[in-house]
Amino acid sequence: MAQFDFNTYVLNVTQDQVQSVSVTYIDDIIQIHITLKPTVSSCPYCGGPVKLKEYSFHSFNHLPIAGHPSVIVWKRRRYVCKDCRKSFSEQNPFGPEKYRQSYAVLSSIADDLHNVHLSFKDIAQKHRISESLVLLYADSFLQVPRNPLPESLGIDELHSKMSKYGGSYLAVLVDNVHRSLCDILPNRSKRTLSKYFEMIPLEERKRVRFVTIDLWQPYKDTALKYFPNCCVAADPFHVVEHLTAGFTRIRVDIMNQCVYNSPEYYLLKKWHKLLETDYYLDNTPKYNNYFKQKMNYRDLYDMLLSLNSNLSLAYHLKEMYRDFNRTCSFENAPAQLDQLIDAFESADLYCYEEFVSILKNWRTEIINSFQRPFDNRKQSNALTEHFNSRLRELITISNGFANFDRFRARAIYCLNNHTFYSLTSSLHSNKREGKDRGPYNKTKDVPLTDDPNNNVDSMVDDFEE
Ligand SMILES: [Zn+2]
Repeated sequence: MAQFDFNTYVLNVTQDQVQSVSVTYIDDIIQIHITLKPTVSSCPYCGGPVKLKEYSFHSFNHLPIAGHPSVIVWKRRRYVCKDCRKSFSEQNPFGPEKYRQSYAVLSSIADDLHNVHLSFKDIAQKHRISESLVLLYADSFLQVPRNPLPESLGIDELHSKMSKYGGSYLAVLVDNVHRSLCDILPNRSKRTLSKYFEMIPLEERKRVRFVTIDLWQPYKDTALKYFPNCCVAADPFHVVEHLTAGFTRIRVDIMNQCVYNSPEYYLLKKWHKLLETDYYLDNTPKYNNYFKQKMNYRDLYDMLLSLNSNLSLAYHLKEMYRDFNRTCSFENAPAQLDQLIDAFESADLYCYEEFVSILKNWRTEIINSFQRPFDNRKQSNALTEHFNSRLRELITISNGFANFDRFRARAIYCLNNHTFYSLTSSLHSNKREGKDRGPYNKTKDVPLTDDPNNNVDSMVDDFEE
């Protein structure tokens, strides 16, 4: 009895439905032969009496059992109506009609497609099917319509060879409120963005209240044009990145003017991190081999800042900005930012020329980043950066996707919980245009019994990646 329960549990049918089941083990494959109890008593077309016409065998690739691959071999009845002469088959509980995979396999593939750590090839090997079949399922089943625009939209770019129309970046759109991936566009140009947003009804676009971007002018222009009610916020991290690049420039220039291996050179070469990262400076002094004495971080930090007045000025300006960035309120931001712009301008350091023009050009957007409308978080592109690293991971494990539509579908399926996988009877491939069809080869990946009714999967080798 226990054995029987186990089989029915594994096979997605109840014990009552099973007439007989037997298991064979051939070439490391568990073959489960099953016959169901007859349930048909009348014709589904006319209600007339029926008689058994014939049996046919259907095989379904199934999930491994205790590590061994398994196949369901179902002996299926076909009936014929004695009145209207129409014929029909028993109900199929194992897998969709015309598929050679069981429901359990298709559902397991769906789960795996959701995992950014698994490549299509990994999924194919795991389920003992060809990679082209996994691609065909992904192309057919991943339903990724356009997601509605969020209240706070993040726009960022991702460097990729898949980008189309002359650019080298994809545009990544995220929902900063619900923290999910909204869409990916094949290019970050103003033209591509405009074309995408133009298609969206004005009523929906009016609901966008915040747009977070890095310092890329086309994003700003597009946001202001298509989202009449939005505040554009510049990502604080990108602003600070320009600031630290300016500071590194002056530090390296001064270092290169020092005598090699002089104390000045040594400090700027070995201890610059004390001016770049927040360290606890009052640590226990340790013996320093260069200065031949015990020193802590504060000793070295003080020495660094006394080396050069311009370096010290650049450092203090940088810290003033960072402090503003960390602590300022939205209300105080305009006045404090203007004071900072004055301070940077009057310092007149060549290393901050670019930074000062950024502060001036992006003043409104920088101030907007201090608004905290959701979960008390500043407006930033932290989320797009997070998604970009997941997307890069997905590209890496897939040996560099070459097909944008397929990448978009998989990425949104992985990173947006409102996207679904649904079985469809019409399979289609998102294969790239302009490639010839390969020669017809019947797939040999899955050892299945011959079944003329099941021919869909055998067509898949026509589909190339
Ligand atoms: Zn009938």
